[in-house]
Amino acid sequence: MSQSDPDAIIVGGGIGGLGAALALARKGLRARVLEQASTFGEVGAGLQIAPNGTRVLAEYGLLDEARELGVAPADMIMFDALDASELTRLDLRDLERRYGFPYLVMHRSDLHALLLRGCERAGVELVTDGRVDGLAPDGTGVIRADGQIERADVVIAADGLHSVARASFVADAPVSSSYVAYRGAMPIEDVRGNDVHEDAVVVYVGPRCHFVQYALRGGSMFNQVAVFESPRAKAGQADWGLPDELDQAFEGACDQVQRGIPLMWRDRFWRMFDRDPVDRWVFGRVALLGDAAHPPLQYLAQGAVMAIEDGWVLAEHAARRRSASGDVDWDAALAAYQAVRPEHCRRVQSTARDWGGLWHLDGPRRDRRNALLRDRDVRDYSFVDWLYGPTALEPGQEPEMFKPIPL
Ligand code: FAD
Repeated sequence: MSQSDPDAIIVGGGIGGLGAALALARKGLRARVLEQASTFGEVGAGLQIAPNGTRVLAEYGLLDEARELGVAPADMIMFDALDASELTRLDLRDLERRYGFPYLVMHRSDLHALLLRGCERAGVELVTDGRVDGLAPDGTGVIRADGQIERADVVIAADGLHSVARASFVADAPVSSSYVAYRGAMPIEDVRGNDVHEDAVVVYVGPRCHFVQYALRGGSMFNQVAVFESPRAKAGQADWGLPDELDQAFEGACDQVQRGIPLMWRDRFWRMFDRDPVDRWVFGRVALLGDAAHPPLQYLAQGAVMAIEDGWVLAEHAARRRSASGDVDWDAALAAYQAVRPEHCRRVQSTARDWGGLWHLDGPRRDRRNALLRDRDVRDYSFVDWLYGPTALEPGQEPEMFKPIPL
């Protein structure tokens, strides 16, 4: 190690990598982010940030700006996608009182830019065109695409679903759900007259499909996500998820959904993959974080939030194990991170799969689901307390998990 080496190299400058770099820099540690792209940025449209994420943003001093950039909707409402009947709702203002922090929705690029500005202010070294192709053989650094080795006390792999670092340690592959997402963000004027809810996060759940809507950027934009199971993916064909399948998937949907489908971006789509949970994320001085560690299906809207929590937990443990001379006992800090985060994220990943299954039911099981959801007390928070409560720093703080009733 030389004097110019940082304390931590973070591979990947997505929401997870920037969040971790900011968390470490706020604790006085030197963080360097290596991002493969030629600029820092995010593709896609909206992102929901539940109170367990906004709690961390508040601690970083970023919540006020996040509120200004985003929207704090009044409700989250679930409708049946076929008959448009309301199934259940969450009062998000009450939710904010319960957890102390808001449920926000933001444009992805706004959240990413907010974290980037935080990193710049905190003195994070931000490197673009910084692709990493592997880990140094002794595990104390990374190998850049040009063959150069960069060293640090710790390497944090926040390089997403197709993580290079994860592939060095875990023999697994992304798992296809056969579902595909189309997104679209548009001026709010384009959807006025479409019977949309401007002050709510809305999801229409239907057989093998669902449709999400909410306003963004102080209410000036509107975000839509259309997700469906691809028959061609189920049949093992390579050309799955094309726009013809989008149109077919929503043919039987209610008017509110039908009006939204023509507004989706049709030139790009996202095939939905996750990975099976793994219980080990720390390998010597290398730690997996964000989607590199725990890529979920998006049904609980927790992927980016978990990534933000990961960085906060890691930095807290590093700071607690820092001596007066400034040295961090990284082995102990990484062990503490390893002790608490994989179990929480395993629960989120597996529950997201189950929750998606519930959304997409058909026939009598759809009827039973609808009856159960309509009966639900809208002030019952037992199914989200384990998600939206304070992020655990120790395994003993992890709340009991909600056990869904099988249908
Ligand atoms: P990524 O965003 O994948 O970032 C990885 C970064 O690493 C990228 O910048 C990439 O260029 C870089 N990189 C990759 N490989 C290398 C390399 N070898 N060297 C250097 N750099 C590299 N989550 C929520 O919390 N709320 C939501 O509402 C929500 N909605 C979603 C909706 C959809 C349709 C989808 C698909 C996901 C959703 N998610 C949501 C999940 C969320 O988007 C992800 O979990 C989150 O963005 C993961 O962030 P990350 O930084 O870990 O990974």
